[in-house]
Amino acid sequence: VSTRRFLKGGSEELSRELDGRISAFEVKDCDLAGRTGALKVGSREVMTPALMPVVNPNLLEKGYPLTPFRLKEEFGFDIMITNSYMIRKNPDLSSRALELGLHRLLDFDGIIMTDSGTFQSYVYGGGGKNEVDVDPLEIVEFQRNIGSDIGTILDRFTTPDTDRQRADSDLRETMSRGSLSLEKKGQMELAVPVQGGLHLDLREEAGRLVREMGVRYSPIGGVVPLMESYRYAELVDVIISAKKGLGPSIPAHLFGAGHPMFIPLAVALGCDLFDSASYAKFAKDGRYLTMDRTRHLREMESFPCSCRTCSRMEPKEMLELPPLEREALLAEHNLWSLRAVMGEVRSAIREGTLWELVERSASFHPSLYEAVRHLGDRADFLEDNAPATTRRFMCSDLNLGICRPEFRRYRRSLCKNYRYPDADEMVLVKGTSGLRGTVGSRKLHSSFGRGSWVVVTTPIGPVPSELLDMYPPGQSVLPPIDSLPGEIRNEVENHVKAFSEGWAGPVRSADADSLSDDAVEKAPSGLDLHRIINVSRMQFGRETDLEIDRVLLGEYSDLSLLKERVVLRTSRRTGKVRNVLAVDGDKEEHILSLRAEDGHFTLKLAGGARLHHAGWPYRVTVDSETGEYNAMGYNVFCRFVLSAGECIRPGDEVLVVDPSGSLLAVGQARITGRHMVEGDSGVAVKVREGIKGK
Ligand SMILES: [Zn+2]
Repeated sequence: VSTRRFLKGGSEELSRELDGRISAFEVKDCDLAGRTGALKVGSREVMTPALMPVVNPNLLEKGYPLTPFRLKEEFGFDIMITNSYMIRKNPDLSSRALELGLHRLLDFDGIIMTDSGTFQSYVYGGGGKNEVDVDPLEIVEFQRNIGSDIGTILDRFTTPDTDRQRADSDLRETMSRGSLSLEKKGQMELAVPVQGGLHLDLREEAGRLVREMGVRYSPIGGVVPLMESYRYAELVDVIISAKKGLGPSIPAHLFGAGHPMFIPLAVALGCDLFDSASYAKFAKDGRYLTMDRTRHLREMESFPCSCRTCSRMEPKEMLELPPLEREALLAEHNLWSLRAVMGEVRSAIREGTLWELVERSASFHPSLYEAVRHLGDRADFLEDNAPATTRRFMCSDLNLGICRPEFRRYRRSLCKNYRYPDADEMVLVKGTSGLRGTVGSRKLHSSFGRGSWVVVTTPIGPVPSELLDMYPPGQSVLPPIDSLPGEIRNEVENHVKAFSEGWAGPVRSADADSLSDDAVEKAPSGLDLHRIINVSRMQFGRETDLEIDRVLLGEYSDLSLLKERVVLRTSRRTGKVRNVLAVDGDKEEHILSLRAEDGHFTLKLAGGARLHHAGWPYRVTVDSETGEYNAMGYNVFCRFVLSAGECIRPGDEVLVVDPSGSLLAVGQARITGRHMVEGDSGVAVKVREGIKGK
C-alpha cells in the first residue's frame, strides 16, 4: 500500500504554493503506460498526448508565414514552445516581450512553453564547455517576466556518452538550480528536466528528485542524440527509468523528440508531450513528413495525404513555386501530418488499441522494431501501469505481440489462480484465429456435460473453455498456433504441458470437429459454475493469496453444494450468465454481474462487502469528509485519496474505505493505485454503488 506523503518531501512553503496550483493534469483514459488527459495551465487547457510546434521568434520577425495565430486557429495546436534565450538575446524582441507579454507578442491564445537555452548550449557550445552566456536564475526570471505559461530551468544537458561521474555531478547541479529556480518562478509553471544520460539509475533518481521537489511538469532531456542515431532501444530504457522516478502524476515531455515514427512507442511508455521543430526544418530542406519516414519533394509523384495542402496540388506544381512559398506549404503539410499522428494516438488510447499502433510503427524502421521487442525485457514496467482490461485485441505479429502485458498477466494468473474442474478427461483442442469461433459454445457445453473438459491451445497459452469469453483470451484475434515461429511455439507448448501436468486426470488431444455436436437442451451448470469460480479467481486474485471464490461464494466441498448456494441469472437473449446471486438462508444477495464486453465481473456492494471482510487489498482509503459523498455514490477524486493498494491498475474493481477501514463504496479504478496517491487532480475511482445509495 502506498500512502500519500503530505508536503510530498518539499518545504512547507512549497506545499502552500501547491495549494494555489498553477497547473493541473487530469488523466482520462489509459492504455499500456500511456494515457489521454488534460493539462490545464492557468485558464488554458490542452488535450494530451499533445505536440507543440517549435516557433522560432527570429523567423517570425522576418515574416515567416506560419504564425502562432495560424498554428492555433487553422491547425488546432493549443500549445506551442519558443525559446526564451533567443528572445532575450535580441534586444528589440526582448524589450517588446517584456512590454507586451509573450501571448500578445506572438499573438497566441494557447499555452506557451519556453525553453531556456540548454539545447543551444549543447548544439553551439557557448561559454565554458556546457554553458551559454546566461545566468540560470536570470533566465527563469526573464521567462516569468515575459509571461511564459511553462518556463524551463537552465539544466545541464547530459549527452549519452557522458561518463557516470560527470553525469552525476551534472545531475546535482541541475537539481540545485531546480530548487533555486522554483523560488523565482512566481505564477509561472516551471519545468525541471530529468537528465542522467544513459545511466539508468541516475535517470530514475532524477525523476524521483524532481517529483519530491514538488515540480509539476518534467521534460525528459538529453535524448535528441539518441533519436538522431536511431538508438530507440536505449531510448526506451531511458524513458522507463525516468518515468519510474517521476511517477504517473507528473506530465512527461520527451524533449526534442517529435518524429511521428517514435511517438506511438513513446506515448505507450507514458510520455504526454512532444515538441517538433522538424515540420519547419524538413520543409526548409524540401522534405515531406509522413508517419513512417520523410521524402524529398523531388522524388514524389503524388501526395499520399489528403490534408488541405496536399489535396490542392500535385508535387510537381509545388516544386514550381517560389522557394519561400514552397517551404511554407511543405511546412503546412508537415504540421497536418503531425496533428494526424497525435489524433491517431489519442483515439488508440481511448479505444484500447495502442499496442496495435505501436506494432504498426515498429515496421517503419528495424531499430524501432528492436525497441518494441525490447519491451519484452521491460514487461514489468508495462504491467505496473497497463489497464486490467481493455477491448478485444488483434495480434498479427506474435514476435512483438508476445511482449504485450496481457499475455504475461494471463499466464501468471492461470498458473497462480486457476482451479481445475472435476471432469473425466481433459481434451486439448488446437485453437485457430478467433477463439470462440474455434469451438462453438454449444459443442463446449455438450462436451463438458459428458465429463470432458475442453482446453484450447492458443498463442496466449492454454485457455480452459470456461475462460473463453474472458479478456484477454476471449477478446483477441490471434494467428493460428501452427503459424507461430518455432521459439514462441515451444514456449506455448511448455505452458500447455505445465498446465496439463497440474491436472491429475487423463489428457487427450482432439480436433475441434471431432467434438460431440449433440444438442443440449439446457447448458449444464457445471460449466457456468466453473466460469464463476475461475473468472473471479483470475480477476480478483491477481495480487492476493485469498481463495477468492470461497470468499465470495462461501466455503464448499463440491459443486453440488455450491449449486444450492448460488443463483445464476442468465440473459434471455444469449443464454449467458449475467448476474450472480449468493443465497444465504432465505435471502438472496446480488454479488457480481458479468460484463458481456470483456467477460469480467463488476462488483456489487454485497460482493464488495464479502471481499472487504476478508481483507482484499484492492482498496482505496479516502479522507473521511469526502468519504461521505462517495458513500452516496459520487466519484473519488485523487486529491482526497489517502492511500491505495499498489496492486490497483486502471479498470480494476476496488473498494472505497474511510480512514478507519469501513467500507463506503465499490467502483472501478480509473488509474493506478500509485497515481491515485501521487496525483492531485482527476477522477481516481468511478463509484458504482455506495453504502448510502446512489
Ligand atoms: Zn498533406
